[in-house]
Amino acid sequence: MRYFGAHVTSAGGHQNSIKEAVKYGINSIQTMPTAPMRWALKDVPVDQIDALVNEHKGSGVEKLLLHCVYLINLARQDSQMFHLSKMSLVTYLKYAQTVMDRADGLDVLGVTFHPGSAKDLTPEEGVKRISEGLDWIIEQVPGRAMLLLESSAGSGNVMGDTLEELAAMREGAVHKERVGYVLDTQHMFVSGYDWRNDLEGIVSKIDEVLGLENVRCFHLNDSMMDFNSHRDRHENLGKGEIGLEAITALVNHPKLKNIPFIMETPALKGGEEMQAEIDTLKSIIKE
Ligand SMILES: [Zn+2]
Repeated sequence: MRYFGAHVTSAGGHQNSIKEAVKYGINSIQTMPTAPMRWALKDVPVDQIDALVNEHKGSGVEKLLLHCVYLINLARQDSQMFHLSKMSLVTYLKYAQTVMDRADGLDVLGVTFHPGSAKDLTPEEGVKRISEGLDWIIEQVPGRAMLLLESSAGSGNVMGDTLEELAAMREGAVHKERVGYVLDTQHMFVSGYDWRNDLEGIVSKIDEVLGLENVRCFHLNDSMMDFNSHRDRHENLGKGEIGLEAITALVNHPKLKNIPFIMETPALKGGEEMQAEIDTLKSIIKE
């Protein structure tokens, strides 16, 4: 079975992410269970999580990825920012673990987040701070739920735009077995990974540096921005600089076929445009 889908909303209730998946005919989803620009510091009540778990039964949804709030920065010297980031990730990791404990047949991929920006630290210090943060968070949440570092577009001091830097964050953690990766095709493209001309080279590099088994998901996005521009702007599939031909080769690469592909493109705001975007993805995915 191929796993593919899109970012969907949880607005109005946690069960709504599953309803969206059914409505648009996808088996893998990403959602953000709390408001994107507010620190998530309180546990989500279990009855709200159960609304999702109950909706999931018989829905055909196979993979769930949780995207943490956008405010996270684990590479900060500032201890208040570091603490709020860690506490938000604890809230999300508990959410992931609760779903894992209560839902049958739903693979919770983990909690993904942008590792951060090392404004007041060197990149080496930033990596160390992130690794320490990962361990602290994991120690607060017993279980198996995973933290997933997302590759970044690397503008300014943003960390995690190279595979080597992502690997160093995980390698520095004691609890590596609960740390994985989400690779964003747009962020990688603008960070110097050319899907159009070097698919084989990139796949080998991912395997060598990160280990393909540690890549839990791809964010599948075309790019509004030029190759190597370090600018984070997603485009609809086939409408950007990567193009449909390269994206088709990427999603059907034999070594990547078992990894879920989840889109975060501008068309996914709902309605016919969203359905058309999902239909484009379905049309290029081969069994
Ligand atoms: Zn992404």
